[in-house]
Amino acid sequence: VSTTGKPDISREKSAELYAKAKTFFPGGVNSPVRAFKSVYGTPLFIKKGDGCRLWDADDNEFIDFCCSWGPLILGHNHPKVKDKVIEVMQNGMSFGAPTALENELAELILKNNKFIEKLRFVSSGTEAVMSAIRLARGYTKRDKILKFEGCYHGHSDSLLVKAGSGLVTFGETSSAGVPKSFADETIVIGLNDVDALNKAFADFKGQIAAIIIEPIPANNGLLLQSKEYLQTLRDVCTANGALLIFDEVISGFRVGFEGAAGHYQIKPDIITYGKIIGGGLPVGMYGASAEIMGHVSPDGGVYQAGTLSGNPVAMAAGIAQLTELLKSSFYKDLNNKTQEFVDAIQRFATARSYKFKVFSIGSIFWFAFTDKASISNADEIDPASMEKFKVMHRELINRGIYFGPSGYEVGFISSAHNKIDLEKTKRAIFDSLDLVF
Ligand code: PLP
Repeated sequence: VSTTGKPDISREKSAELYAKAKTFFPGGVNSPVRAFKSVYGTPLFIKKGDGCRLWDADDNEFIDFCCSWGPLILGHNHPKVKDKVIEVMQNGMSFGAPTALENELAELILKNNKFIEKLRFVSSGTEAVMSAIRLARGYTKRDKILKFEGCYHGHSDSLLVKAGSGLVTFGETSSAGVPKSFADETIVIGLNDVDALNKAFADFKGQIAAIIIEPIPANNGLLLQSKEYLQTLRDVCTANGALLIFDEVISGFRVGFEGAAGHYQIKPDIITYGKIIGGGLPVGMYGASAEIMGHVSPDGGVYQAGTLSGNPVAMAAGIAQLTELLKSSFYKDLNNKTQEFVDAIQRFATARSYKFKVFSIGSIFWFAFTDKASISNADEIDPASMEKFKVMHRELINRGIYFGPSGYEVGFISSAHNKIDLEKTKRAIFDSLDLVF
């Protein structure tokens, strides 16, 4: 029986699978946060997803707010995505040669996104960002990059410095194995700090190739930035001959079809995307003006390649998913639904004077155990508050609600979450909050 509320769900089969997985994989997982280390201690093994629901190996049913960490904006197993994937798979899985599907997905994106003119598909967000950084360095002929504490940009070497949830969840901020000489090329400053920004550009005058930021930082809680601050980054880059890279692997196609660039109406020089554009299959991409993209091989000298880049099955999933997103009122409905959900939770917590805030944008939200009106910097998060998240997470799991297993992670709402699902979730959240406080 749980020490805090509802009886614990049965986890026998997940436990068996986890014991076996530990003999195969470090920590029993193929990506660290999945290990549930900072919450229950052992992960749930998932066997099926449909709509907004997940089922684990013990047949427990959950309403899912992790949505595979963001890609599933239409929910699991959307019939249009599934049908398109099956149709394309009939003709083979990979050719290592161009296909019309790459054109189709690129056209869908470029026609509806005024911030980029050309793009390159890769197979993950990590690859997209790694390639964007190389392009910025090749283009500017400078080596240093400036990133922000708490922003995660995938696990390439020079970006694993003060890099958000996956590391913070385990009490670290940077990764072992990154050579000091690589880390030395990465300047890290706090978000929302103009003085530190100006100082970095003064200290490293003429050396900074690019600023990279998640314009909607969502990997260390949800650290919303002001439009003015993002505009300052734009201006500082322009004034200093550096490129501005928006890493929109989470925010892209999530807060709107044009992502954060469209939301704030700020034009970065390079944008990276991932997650949603693959409809749940492994895809990433980076894009920029035709002039900047002209520096990528084979047109230019910045080398970047991939055996499975533009994989036809992944392209098919992306085409089907993005086609749904372009339907009128898709984002309006999704964002309104999210707003109503988070407002109701906030009203409940405020009425009971709980130190609890729900921060949100579009269909992304984050639960913060704080009484601060806003949090825009990783430093403002109290690590001790994660104990409360741990209790809440267990209570929610026991009530059939699945959240990412770390208090530094955000939640996502998909078009598959309906009113009844969200009502059930609210009741579970209210009960859990009453137990936490
Ligand atoms: N950039 C951001 C903003 C991300 O959130 C992530 C992953 O969560 C990545 C890059 C890396 O993407 P991937 O996990 O597909 O390599």
